Amino acid sequence: MADVSLYWFRDDLRLSDLPGLAAAAQAGHVIPIFVRDPDLGDAWRIGSASQWWLHHSLLSLRTHLSEQGLELILKSGATVPVLSALAAQTGATTVYCSRHYQPWAGALETTLKERLSKQGVGLKRYPGTLLYEPEDVATGGGTPFKVFTPFWRACNRRPDPHQPVPVPELTPHNDLIESEELLDWGLLPTSPNWALDWNDLWHPGEAGAQTALTQFLDHHVQDYGDGRDIPAEPNTSKLSPYLRFGNLSPRQVWHAAQASKLERPEAVGSIEKFLSEIGWREFCYHLLFHFPTMPDEAFNPKFSFFPWDDDPERLIAWQRGKTGYPIVDAGMRELWQTGFMHNRVRMVVASFLTKHLLLNWRAGEKWFWDCLLDADIASNACSWQWVGGSGADASPYFRIFNPITQGEKFDKAGTYTRRWVPEVADLPDKYLHKPWEAPDDVLSAAGVRLGETYPLPIVDHKTAREAALSAYGTLKSLD
Ligand SMILES: Cc1cc2nc3c(=O)[nH]c(=O)nc-3n(C[C@H](O)[C@H](O)[C@H](O)COP(=O)(O)OP(=O)(O)OC[C@H]3O[C@@H](n4cnc5c(N)ncnc54)[C@H](O)[C@@H]3O)c2cc1C
Repeated sequence: MADVSLYWFRDDLRLSDLPGLAAAAQAGHVIPIFVRDPDLGDAWRIGSASQWWLHHSLLSLRTHLSEQGLELILKSGATVPVLSALAAQTGATTVYCSRHYQPWAGALETTLKERLSKQGVGLKRYPGTLLYEPEDVATGGGTPFKVFTPFWRACNRRPDPHQPVPVPELTPHNDLIESEELLDWGLLPTSPNWALDWNDLWHPGEAGAQTALTQFLDHHVQDYGDGRDIPAEPNTSKLSPYLRFGNLSPRQVWHAAQASKLERPEAVGSIEKFLSEIGWREFCYHLLFHFPTMPDEAFNPKFSFFPWDDDPERLIAWQRGKTGYPIVDAGMRELWQTGFMHNRVRMVVASFLTKHLLLNWRAGEKWFWDCLLDADIASNACSWQWVGGSGADASPYFRIFNPITQGEKFDKAGTYTRRWVPEVADLPDKYLHKPWEAPDDVLSAAGVRLGETYPLPIVDHKTAREAALSAYGTLKSLD
């Protein structure tokens, strides 16, 4: 009689390039299960926007599995007892899964392995969410990397990532197993349904991921090198939420990008740049794996003494896109309305929070965690600490983004800012990124009444910059 195994889906919500699923399929009947563990991750339980993506990814996965005659089993509860009980109920001999790297994942996998082994069931973990396992990349001295460039160079010296594995042929298990209803999980917003427009913007799941990858490589990658910093242009891949939920694997991205290099020699430089951003994702996980406190504590310990301000009103103004700096407000509103924000603007708004408003990077990290569809514990923490100056290989704290010149440089024509901040859309380009400098007649011709239709700047750039440098100066004695 063929073996029965469970495939435990986690952040790998796809059927292709899933080595663990392929191994389970070879062993016999497969029961696919996703566990919603309400306590897992503690403060880092999935945020509101990501719940929407999770819901739709599960729907898509369920459809693909049902095409092969399998039902995706949904269960809520603590992961270890849920999987142990299902293995006992079905007579499964092995639980297969992809490996995870979050601070709690190793302990969870160890506990699960011990519990299952007591009932004679094996646990088999496979790589699948990264290109390179964190332990496989190390400095000459055997220590983890803390700087990106040598890290990525070391990755590139390793053998190429394996070819993606195809969707396996799955053999269903015929016993009736009770599953919970996805809709009962309440992952979708209801009153109000703030995600109403998202079905037109995003297509979570494996098919959407493959389309997004092909579209990007066929039509946009050639502009990535020079154009990736222009938020009004569709020059970046928008693959981040798909990668976050494993709707596609980084190996699939890597191999598709290599194939593009052969087909389009003129785009090789851009493709290398794109791959190096995938490298940043790897680097963030490398850091998280070796320094698991990264989401909660400053990587550079002297930043735990930074004299952060505590001003809830300023935090709310930032969250709602009402700071009076149009490029900052545009980014924050893009985030709220679409669950996404362009990378350049993420850097500008993060710098504004930590340097102009002197608010702790962790407040920004939390807001992004709740609002981003791609909210990823490694990339989010690593990026916030990079901008805030406290991270490994961080941008120095004294490099303070000027929100006026950033707007003028990266949104020169104002298309992005006008889209998200319509109150200032009729201002001429010259004043779009600094409405407070516009003469009264210009403001009035554009229908702008500062302090009424659009806020006055909540801080003065020059004064805020000096305050930030002075706050940073207090850390100097700790060097
Ligand atoms: C303050 C801040 C917070 C961020 N939080 C997240 C987050 O929670 N989740 C997340 O995926 N990214 C985060 N990023 C990184 C980056 O902004 C997004 O990955 C990128 O904007 C996604 O858009 P894209 O898919 O079009 O990227 P592309 O430019 O097309 O890049 C391709 C892929 O590379 C990866 N990538 C690109 N840039 C980075 C980076 N700087 N760090 C890590 N991976 C990167 C992503 O997986 C991305 O999909 C954050 C950046 C900042 C400044």
